[in-house]
Amino acid sequence: MTKEDLIQELRAYRVLKSPSLIRAFYTVDRRGFVPPEYAEEAYGDYPISIGFGQTISQPLTVAFMLELLLPRPGDSVLEIGAGSGWQAALLGYVVSGGGTVSGKRRQCAPVVTMERVLPLCDMASANIRGCPVIRKGVVEVVAGDGSRGHARCAPYDRIIAAATTGSIPVAWKEQLRVGGRIVAPVEDTIEVHDKLSTGDYNIRVYHGFRFVPLVTDEREGG
Ligand code: SAH
Repeated sequence: MTKEDLIQELRAYRVLKSPSLIRAFYTVDRRGFVPPEYAEEAYGDYPISIGFGQTISQPLTVAFMLELLLPRPGDSVLEIGAGSGWQAALLGYVVSGGGTVSGKRRQCAPVVTMERVLPLCDMASANIRGCPVIRKGVVEVVAGDGSRGHARCAPYDRIIAAATTGSIPVAWKEQLRVGGRIVAPVEDTIEVHDKLSTGDYNIRVYHGFRFVPLVTDEREGG
């Protein structure tokens, strides 16, 4: 399967639709985000092992969730679960207007991605650095448990998680701007929460997905 085949397939399924995401899928090459031994499989529509029991997500799932998220140029985004860094780079491409805007003049990078497995933080950072269309300062990889979000760079316009949890953590809702959107796996579903006002959300649920679990380092209240 080539990159063109993969993108045509995702478009034929009507999963990948919006022009900015189609451009991102062409430009932010998944091949640069899979371990070298899987280079030949980089455009297969399935998750691929990245070590530490984790995977780079299936392209169909990434496309589906990003289409729900609808990131826009100029948005500030929090991702939980950097993994390979591929989804963070796709986000970086879109919010930086196709890679034309740098993130340098802001206090926080437009895309903040959290990862609890330290070697994966290094892998994600290296992969993103190796991606020629993502300028320095557009994506910041933060080491740590993302279940509490990252208050320092809040509020966010968009929050997306790549690992599944029993319910959306309160911290993510608090760190979301009014008018913003969370897209996150909850058990085997994908939930979309639109923050209408403080404490008031419109929720949609999509069934039939599989994700790796969100591993929290501490129990809430513990
Ligand atoms: N977005 C990634 C997908 C990685 S899979 C990609 O494009 O490759 C999900 C990732 O979430 C794993 O790397 C896992 O280590 C991480 N993760 C799980 N629980 C987490 C937590 N509480 N905080 C931060 N990262 C977490």
